[in-house]
Amino acid sequence: MTSTLIIGAGSAGCVLAARLSADPARSVRVFEAGPVYRTMGELPVELLDPGHLPVGPESRVVWRYPGNLVRGKLIGGSGSINGSYFIRPPAADFAAWSAVAGPRWSFESVLPVFCDLEHDLDFGNAPGHGVAGPIPISRTSDFTAFSAEFAERCAAAGFTEIPDLNTPTGFEQPRSTPSKSGGCIRQKRPPILGSPGVPDVEPARFADVFARLGANHTEGFGTVPLAVSRGRRAGPAFTHLYPAMGRPNLTVTSDTMVTRLVLRGTRVIGVEWARGRERGRTYADQTVLCAGAVESAALLIRSGIGPEPLLRSLGVPIVRPAPVGAWCTDHPEIGVEFPDDEPGEPAVPLEYVLEIGDLELRPYTPMFTPGLRRIGVALMHPESTGELTLVSADPTVPAHVDQRYLRSERDRARLRDGVALTADLLGRRIGPIDDAWLHANLGTSQHLSGTCRMGPAHDERAVVDEQGRVHGIEALTVADLSVVPVPLGRGPQATTVMLAAAIADHAGV
Ligand SMILES: Cc1cc2nc3c(=O)[nH]c(=O)nc-3n(C[C@H](O)[C@H](O)[C@H](O)COP(=O)(O)OP(=O)(O)OC[C@H]3O[C@@H](n4cnc5c(N)ncnc54)[C@H](O)[C@@H]3O)c2cc1C
Repeated sequence: MTSTLIIGAGSAGCVLAARLSADPARSVRVFEAGPVYRTMGELPVELLDPGHLPVGPESRVVWRYPGNLVRGKLIGGSGSINGSYFIRPPAADFAAWSAVAGPRWSFESVLPVFCDLEHDLDFGNAPGHGVAGPIPISRTSDFTAFSAEFAERCAAAGFTEIPDLNTPTGFEQPRSTPSKSGGCIRQKRPPILGSPGVPDVEPARFADVFARLGANHTEGFGTVPLAVSRGRRAGPAFTHLYPAMGRPNLTVTSDTMVTRLVLRGTRVIGVEWARGRERGRTYADQTVLCAGAVESAALLIRSGIGPEPLLRSLGVPIVRPAPVGAWCTDHPEIGVEFPDDEPGEPAVPLEYVLEIGDLELRPYTPMFTPGLRRIGVALMHPESTGELTLVSADPTVPAHVDQRYLRSERDRARLRDGVALTADLLGRRIGPIDDAWLHANLGTSQHLSGTCRMGPAHDERAVVDEQGRVHGIEALTVADLSVVPVPLGRGPQATTVMLAAAIADHAGV
């Protein structure tokens, strides 16, 4: 019997554990650093509520890193605490991905995997969709007044409403969602965004911004596809790991942090772990890292697989020099805030998005700061890349990610344009939008990827091959968001589960 050890029961780990343990000839063991509630019924209620992001200072189910970076630390990982926005990247991202990592990652190859994973309750029978997969996808039809007004303003500005943001390029857009009339609901209260008496949005005012963004009116706004089932967050623990939990060949071990890989020469034979005061080793034929973009990279570095100067400075014996952490990416996000006195109780954090060029405008429904509404202006294909490093080989010391946002003049210019567009859309004056203003309002989308990039062995940026196997190391695969070698034009959750499913099914781990 092949034994496979999966490190991390997060978004990717849940999918991988469920897929691999479907084979009774394989024994699968998962180590999760955070709590593993044995049944869905034991999950704290706030983790099931998709309107609530349990990441505040009081949260006991997150990893925290400098720079306001958080990650889920529990069964389901970040997929158990995220915004449930489940959206596929554009085909162009897969063209870029397959250009560096081979045809396995072309859009034609990954589309069937996306389709098999989903049960799209609105468009499942449309071409390029699925109805038989484990992940329920739906879109809100009962919008908050803020979302409805945002959509009205987008329409008034001349943007097209896209009924299905997951429709692949080349497939005809469905005319409307089954649950709606195709238009957006009119708000029943005075406008929130601008001065009383608006909408005063004039399409002509956008002409210069469109020209600079290289966008046209075929890009537009739409309701966000959500992994939500009957009002509950339907993360990968819910859709994949819980249904597999009773299998005799699957063991999921809670509150166990893997601290280092155990190698014989260049072959990984197991891991060292810590559980409270207990320390131990577990051996396996295959080890798969699903610890996420921060911790998978950190584990490699602590185990001697990383940039040579960094390993030397940490006093870690070098097993294999590799550019781990050297080229990571994320979506910088500028928060444009304005007062509103009606907090409401949103069912989900994001109901609409507006896409224009590689900018995404996100009218968040919760108030992250009491009394203030926020529209996030996110840059989806930034030029700037970041770097993850460790300051200590001690596994209890958090990794450090220098995002290096806004280093590129192009990135700053795009974000300035995005903020100007938001101001126009809101009928508000913002500014001056200089670099200092951008830095003061800068945040992260929490979409870190690419710390262990995929690519051929001769690629100076590549850590793993096209199947996620670590170059130069045997019996070790990385199968989470850290391997994605290009910035993604949409949020990464859908891509993470697709990636895990594809690696489980085809990579022979
Ligand atoms: C607050 C927040 C909101 C987000 N909202 C969205 C959204 O709405 N839509 C979207 O597309 N994306 C969103 N994202 C991003 C998305 O959730 C993540 O990118 C995705 O879940 C990453 O999956 P992963 O499997 O790579 O890592 P994770 O899901 O983070 O899983 C890693 C797992 O490994 C465990 N682990 C780590 N180290 C160890 C170790 N040494 N030993 C044992 N276990 C370990 C962790 O505890 C965790 O359970 C959000 C992220 C955050 C943090």
